[in-house]
Amino acid sequence: MPSTLTSYKHILVAVDLTEECDPVIYRASASAEANGAKLSLIHIVEPMAMAFGGDVPMDLSQLQQQQFDQAKERLERLIDIYPQLSTDNCHLKFGQPRQEIHGFAIKEKCDLIVVGSHGRHGLALLLGSTANDVLHGAPCDVLAVSLKKTDD
Ligand code: AMP
Repeated sequence: MPSTLTSYKHILVAVDLTEECDPVIYRASASAEANGAKLSLIHIVEPMAMAFGGDVPMDLSQLQQQQFDQAKERLERLIDIYPQLSTDNCHLKFGQPRQEIHGFAIKEKCDLIVVGSHGRHGLALLLGSTANDVLHGAPCDVLAVSLKKTDD
């Protein structure tokens, strides 16, 4: 069998820590179990200056720290809920999501990245989404879990 068709060994799930991350974690942990793979979770806290588009004439360090603490609390709540998650396999990074997720996947030899996808249209599609961003230039397979709401 070609090596690309063997089972996954290390699955990385990237989460935004909103209530929408449940189906993404669920799919990633089910895949990890089915493949007998290691599971890692990552969340990236984006620099505030980046969100404001670069130069901001004020000190954002306190706000940034609050953002980081809030992310840490949310991550701890997930660890309490999911028995597959622990402080050892959950990682909080600071930076740009695409860059940090790719960097982690390379460093830790992940062979599948799992993200959520809204399958957006129109302007949002032109602006791109994190799932789209992660897919481009990914160092391994990427699974985009559909987060589209159905009407029924
Ligand atoms: P979005 O494009 O922001 O709607 O997010 C789509 C998916 O990208 C989410 O379901 C997560 O899997 C991933 N994602 C978004 N933001 C982050 C983040 N800050 N850290 C890690 N993954 C993220």
